[in-house]
Amino acid sequence: MLPELLQSTKIFHLLHRIDIDLADKQQKVGCPYCGSSLHYSNYKRQPRGGPDLPESLYIRLSFCCSRENCRRRTLPNSTLFMDRRVYFRVVILIITTLGQNKPQEYSKNMLSNLLGSSRKTITRWLAYFREIFPRSRTWKKIRGIVNPTVLNQALPGSLVEYYLKHIPSVEGAIIDCLRLLTTGSPTVKTMG
Ligand SMILES: [Zn+2]
Repeated sequence: MLPELLQSTKIFHLLHRIDIDLADKQQKVGCPYCGSSLHYSNYKRQPRGGPDLPESLYIRLSFCCSRENCRRRTLPNSTLFMDRRVYFRVVILIITTLGQNKPQEYSKNMLSNLLGSSRKTITRWLAYFREIFPRSRTWKKIRGIVNPTVLNQALPGSLVEYYLKHIPSVEGAIIDCLRLLTTGSPTVKTMG
């Protein structure tokens, strides 16, 4: 079940492994500004909402350009971290999905208890997915490859539901969904 996933350390480890692969790919491509090679320049974050995890999972993988006159930072895609938000991406995805798809079962009060956060935070996330995300470049890139039954006005719940229907394990569905949202490339046939 979805809420239980938030307590599973396994999914965080799997996402971390995906992030390492995504970073490797970025390193092979090189600096997006000048094409020079990239050096790791990771930093620590304090993401909230997950179970107790080893320190290595609180590291945001990051690069610095090796060229003297560039030295710019490049953040590879991450399934664990969502921009500068303080909660793990998977936590935001699950909480907003529960709030959207099962509002009777999961009121904002229940969700904020489950998360140990304020209702305001949850309201903000829901507003982001309702108003900003459907118009984002990321979603526009993904929209064309996603099944038409996934509704723009019911994100991310509608997308998660689609994955839950087509992938046998809840964990696998959430991971694939996060991978799609992060990289824009599907791991399963999303057109149905
Ligand atoms: Zn550079």
